[in-house]
Amino acid sequence: MSIDTVIRIVDLLAAICFILALKGLSNPKTAQQGNILGALGMAVAIGLNFKTPGLHRFGLIILAMVIGTAIGVPVARYVKMTAVPQMVAAFNGVGGGAAALVAISDFLQAKPKELAVYQIVEVLFGVIVGSVSFSGSVIAFAKLQEIMSGRPITYPGQKIINAALFASIVAGTIWLCTDPSWQLLLAVALLSNVFGVALVLPIGGADVPVLISLLNSFTGLAVAASGFVLHSVLLVVAGTLVGASGTLLTRMMSQAMGRSIVNILFSAFGSAVIGEDSADVTGRSVVSAGVEDVAILLAYSRKVAIVPGYGLAVAQAQHVVRELADLLEERGVEVFYAIHPVAGRMPGHMNVLLAEANVPYEKLHEMEQANTEFATTDVALVIGANDVVNPAAKTSPGSPIFGMPILNVDEAKNVIFMKRSMRPGFTGIENELMYSPGTTLLFGDAKDSLTLLINAVKSS
Ligand code: NDP
Repeated sequence: MSIDTVIRIVDLLAAICFILALKGLSNPKTAQQGNILGALGMAVAIGLNFKTPGLHRFGLIILAMVIGTAIGVPVARYVKMTAVPQMVAAFNGVGGGAAALVAISDFLQAKPKELAVYQIVEVLFGVIVGSVSFSGSVIAFAKLQEIMSGRPITYPGQKIINAALFASIVAGTIWLCTDPSWQLLLAVALLSNVFGVALVLPIGGADVPVLISLLNSFTGLAVAASGFVLHSVLLVVAGTLVGASGTLLTRMMSQAMGRSIVNILFSAFGSAVIGEDSADVTGRSVVSAGVEDVAILLAYSRKVAIVPGYGLAVAQAQHVVRELADLLEERGVEVFYAIHPVAGRMPGHMNVLLAEANVPYEKLHEMEQANTEFATTDVALVIGANDVVNPAAKTSPGSPIFGMPILNVDEAKNVIFMKRSMRPGFTGIENELMYSPGTTLLFGDAKDSLTLLINAVKSS
């Protein structure tokens, strides 16, 4: 068997690993296995590159790999789960930037005037999409890391400026196809980077994770384009897989938020409402209770729904919440966890968090199932969640979240909100449910309050 055939077979094996990795990642039970398979496929793919004919400067390649590993491993190991969206933004930006640089370097090495139009288009696709993904991800990272304001940044004439930027990129593309030169290519790359920044600036905090997923799919497409440029089947396969899964994820997230992708990208959602200052200013009062009262209510209930949200993740309260659920079950209370698809800050956030505390999967009820159960639930214990239970999504046509599917905790006999203050959730929208007669607030950090609740239930 020739070395070429061996390379093709290994190529195929790596591609199979990537496909199986995605399959594995679609379920919490098999996610770890999927991750390992993906890493294995990637290791094989990197190894294969060393067989590229005419490859030289091994020292530089190894140095780049060592630097990348030295940065990537500790970042991935020690990142807090609540900071994963910004880590994905950073890694994604690097991927998009790399795809753009590969395309530029390929163009510079060739004789531009001798390139066929389709080859120029391949290069341009990688440069434009990779650059937009790079600069857009940098801004998304800065927003999520709170290096810059998470609010949508808007200014007069913004849409016209963005349209002009886009038109210039299209014009540059057409010009390059007719008269290719490296100066023009770099100008298009620069414009694409500016466009990436301009595209992301008006997108508000609550929408940034969706945007990252979209940019991720862009990076996949840019990588697939580099695959065409470099004649690498594996890059085409891997890029297409990332592009397709990123697109599907973006669609699923926007559906779960009840918004279209166009609305997310262009509506500057949240510019008027995001921020701590949008907390209740009407001075209305809420009913709050002490830990003992809540413990008694829980201990003498028949059915309790635990509704986790972002605050549970911030407080790292997944282990104590499980302890409380176990304790209630020992006392004959039926307990289930109601999981909203966008609770937290990334897809599957609550599933991952609760799996870490070994909460059995069958106790995690997806939104549709949970919504059939609230009417027969005695207590809905909403822990660090807000937007995903906000009835404004159903009842207020003027509300920015109107149409977002929510968990109908308002149908439960009693609703307990566990949070630290009256501040709103991620979207900055007031939650009327907190002022309803059947609602009680238990103020405090979720982990501290749950620990106190466990002790109070034990002694009730
Ligand atoms: P929210 O952001 O709506 O609410 C979180 C609540 O947690 C806040 O009200 C906050 O109140 C409370 N909180 C914060 N820290 C603590 C703490 N240490 N202890 C107790 N409470 C705490 O979260 P949800 O999960 O309800 O909603 C998720 C939001 O994120 C939605 O708007 C969703 O659209 C958005 N989003 C999610 C994505 C995903 O994929 N999951 C993607 C994109 C957006 P207080 O400060 O008073 O304590």
